[in-house]
Amino acid sequence: MALVVQKYGGSSVADAKSVKRVAKRIAEAKRAGNDVVVVVSAMGDTTDDLLDLAAQISPLPPKREMDILLTAGERISMSLLAMATNNLGIKAKSFTGPQAGVLTDAAYGKARIVDVVPHRIRRTIEKGQVAIVAGFQGVNQKEDDVTTLGRGGSDTTAVALAAGLGADVCEIFTDVDGVFTADPRIVPSARKIHRVTYEEMLELAASGAKVLALRAVEYARRYGVPLHVRSSFSGAPGTLVSGTYGDLIDPNAPDGDEQEEDVMEDPLISGVAHDRSEAKITVTGVPDKPGMAARIFEVVAASGSNIDMIVQNVSAASTGRTDISFTLPEGSGPSALAALRDVKGEVGYENLEFDDQVGKLSLVGAGMKSHPGVSARLFGAVRDAGINIEMISTSEIRISIVTRADSLDEAVRAVHTAFGLDSADGEAVVYAGTGR
Ligand code: ADP
Ligand code: ASP
Ligand code: MG
Repeated sequence: MALVVQKYGGSSVADAKSVKRVAKRIAEAKRAGNDVVVVVSAMGDTTDDLLDLAAQISPLPPKREMDILLTAGERISMSLLAMATNNLGIKAKSFTGPQAGVLTDAAYGKARIVDVVPHRIRRTIEKGQVAIVAGFQGVNQKEDDVTTLGRGGSDTTAVALAAGLGADVCEIFTDVDGVFTADPRIVPSARKIHRVTYEEMLELAASGAKVLALRAVEYARRYGVPLHVRSSFSGAPGTLVSGTYGDLIDPNAPDGDEQEEDVMEDPLISGVAHDRSEAKITVTGVPDKPGMAARIFEVVAASGSNIDMIVQNVSAASTGRTDISFTLPEGSGPSALAALRDVKGEVGYENLEFDDQVGKLSLVGAGMKSHPGVSARLFGAVRDAGINIEMISTSEIRISIVTRADSLDEAVRAVHTAFGLDSADGEAVVYAGTGR
């Protein structure tokens, strides 16, 4: 008998009919002889709707109240799903994040899980019942208040519970058939990836491929939880996220030969991710002398903004001044700008520019470490599409570029084609969801 943690995303439980359909899948897994723990997200776009509602009440609501509001979404879906499962003759009980023992720090809105103590979930399984847990939420023990884990956080709940319970697998059910070489909503010719390492999935998730939340992948890698990303709308096998590139080429690993062969066949590139959630700040006319970059990024960090890419231009010899641009989450823009305005006199820069019409494309692949010419091919594809590159950054297995937001989709398609990733067997299916 296996212990399976299944997570169903919002688009899989968007209405009553979908909730009943998901209940059937849960019943099937249970009747097949498994112990089943389910994590569920809020129905459809409920979380976005709640955010919109709050914005109509208050521009900057207290974070504690915001989290109490948002956790309501998952309470609705968990109880309805438990009702639907019970209707099928399978005993099921729903639990909030705090009831399930998901303990977090106090960072409301983006709390980190510090421990999972799933006593009630264990007891439920021992009784032969299905436990249905509200994703995306936990409890800050110090204050005894509910917290949320950041957007897409139900994935993290599922992985943390799978690790805490020692589950055999964590299945992430969503509205596409797995992890693809690009978002199928933008690239219909994207190909399903059968297996991907934690490292590659981390880079894809960090670069905007929202099919898995970044923290969920981090957690899965830390605790070695294998993830199976698949569709709740079809029976097709999805994508297995497991292992590391190092394990795969370890000749002493079990089935070493076979695995080595697998790696030989692994493509150079795993996929192209895109992200529209960032903005760009440019600080112009910065005096080109030691300590200026340090000061600028000190104040930006103190404003609570996580920066991503940075570009510093060569200074113009005539003026001894330079421009520094960086990207950051769009929502952090106002506080970073305010912090920079406060040090205008001290740093002596000339101007601040804010640009939220940027998009980021990232090409990810473990194979690029050992293959020259990947950047040249990427830049060539973007040039041939007539699209300008505004910023570039790289890691060992990723190259990212910033373009105008309205050119991003076209750039993603051009790069996807240039690396031979287009599928020959028809279009990828997007079963549901609004892509919001
Ligand atoms: P859920 O509601 O199940 O959590 P999400 O909307 O969070 O679903 O994530 C699934 C969506 O992720 C897909 O519908 C797809 O548009 C998007 N996506 C982005 N990049 C990828 C990718 N590389 N592979 C698959 N889906 C992707
Ligand atoms: N409902 C939350 C969100 O929309 C959590 C999740 O879907 O994973 O971000
Ligand atoms: Mg999600």
